[in-house]
Amino acid sequence: MERNVSSLAIVLHSQRYGQLNRRLKLLTVDFGIIDVLSYGAQKSLKSVKAEVFTDGQFFLYYNPVKKDYTLKDVTVLATHDELRESLHPTYAALFFCELLLRVHGGESTDEYRLLSQALDHLSSMPQKTDLVIIQFVHQLSDLVGLRADFSRCPICDRPYGSNEVVSFSTSLLAHCCEACASLDADLLLPPGARRYLEVTSSMGFEQSLQVPLSDAATLRIKRYLLRYAQMIGQGVLKTLASPILWEASST
Ligand SMILES: [Zn+2]
Repeated sequence: MERNVSSLAIVLHSQRYGQLNRRLKLLTVDFGIIDVLSYGAQKSLKSVKAEVFTDGQFFLYYNPVKKDYTLKDVTVLATHDELRESLHPTYAALFFCELLLRVHGGESTDEYRLLSQALDHLSSMPQKTDLVIIQFVHQLSDLVGLRADFSRCPICDRPYGSNEVVSFSTSLLAHCCEACASLDADLLLPPGARRYLEVTSSMGFEQSLQVPLSDAATLRIKRYLLRYAQMIGQGVLKTLASPILWEASST
């Protein structure tokens, strides 16, 4: 017997399934990340439109025997179509979805809220794409329990000096002092970047985007966090294989 269920959710991924159908991956508030079949999504005018980045209330059938979900309807809160108008915001949004599929494991509600805000900001402020990328990775690391205090080494507990460049522990997946660093660690965090990450640690998304940061510092911190994302993503991320996100987006 099928059951009707619903949840706030965002479409992370969508691929063709058979001739006319699509298989979606949804980040839902109530059920975590789930696969959902959308029948007739290719051609039919009546079919429910739920493209990647769509944020809304999703109405589903759940079949407890087959343990699968089918899309019935969606009340769209935001399509985030605006961000598709330029390359960097589009890549950034795809990167967020790919990274969440890799590291999902925190509270679904918090991850949904973070992605929803990040997509809203990419849509309304495409010129701030690099700052949105920085804050997305920074805040996600906190949600999945990997973020360490930026004022001291999380391994030996020694406070960092104000001009100290800190290194990285690949086993802890966090920054640490040079003495505690992994032998092959080449991920260096300069003092200015560390201060920025520390200051914005306790801020909301909106507020952190207002903190002034030079273009050079923005690029440096973004590249640090993209490399960090590859570490916590445990392998090659497709969206980081191209050079696009590694370049400055505001030119
Ligand atoms: Zn240490």
